[in-house]
Amino acid sequence: MKIWPVLLILLLPSATDAASVMKSTRPWPNATVPYHLTPDLLKTAGTKSKDCTGWAKWPAASAAHKVCKAMDDWYQRSGVRFIARDRIDSVQINLNRNATTATVGYLPIGNQVNIQPGANYGSILHEFGHTLGLAHEHQRTDRANFLTIEPFLQTHLDTCGLKFDPVCNDVRNAFPTKAMRLTSDYDPCSLMHYLASQTPRHKEDPRWGRIFTLTAKGKAAEKACLPQFANLPPRCRKVGQKCAISIQDAAIERRFHGLDQPS
Ligand SMILES: [Zn+2]
Repeated sequence: MKIWPVLLILLLPSATDAASVMKSTRPWPNATVPYHLTPDLLKTAGTKSKDCTGWAKWPAASAAHKVCKAMDDWYQRSGVRFIARDRIDSVQINLNRNATTATVGYLPIGNQVNIQPGANYGSILHEFGHTLGLAHEHQRTDRANFLTIEPFLQTHLDTCGLKFDPVCNDVRNAFPTKAMRLTSDYDPCSLMHYLASQTPRHKEDPRWGRIFTLTAKGKAAEKACLPQFANLPPRCRKVGQKCAISIQDAAIERRFHGLDQPS
């Protein structure tokens, strides 16, 4: 498996730490995602199982429990299935000390999800949204109707070009607009939208504490979508929430995979 990182760099310029679907993204054949859990990930649950069998009884704080719960949650909402298979096109689900990331949509090889040992459930659920093909909602080309990017971030977007430093690498990856092939109405409630506050992203620069402000249209869209989260805690009832799959996230997934009715 040592060749994966090299192949990824060569093949996957769009891999993101990354509810809309980019033009370049491919759906999973037969709406089925083969996955493989690495031994270090399974070890977090202290299980002898080789896959998600029995996950509901594993310690809820373990990374393996959260990963399996996230796959089950997406299946329940979208109908896209996850099956345990170790194949060349399987999603390799790894523990990773440095970052929680995922590749986007189906790739013939190199699909992966990386989970930091302490990652919270919402972040993991977000990464599996990428696995299923979802892009970041705030990267839609129509975002300017709904949010105003803060000047410091806009300056980065305008000037980073090919500069290689941690901030520019991040900005190029997670913030430019992207051409989409499939979108809902702009969804401030999407699990795939970023929070306005990105603290502690790039700790040396406090301006990351606010990266955008909703426009009047954005506020109206937020007000219209938030009732679906009425029973969730306050931190979940705002743009950029990392708690739950939104109605539109699930609907786009079903459309992308030809599953128009929830199964
Ligand atoms: Zn993301």
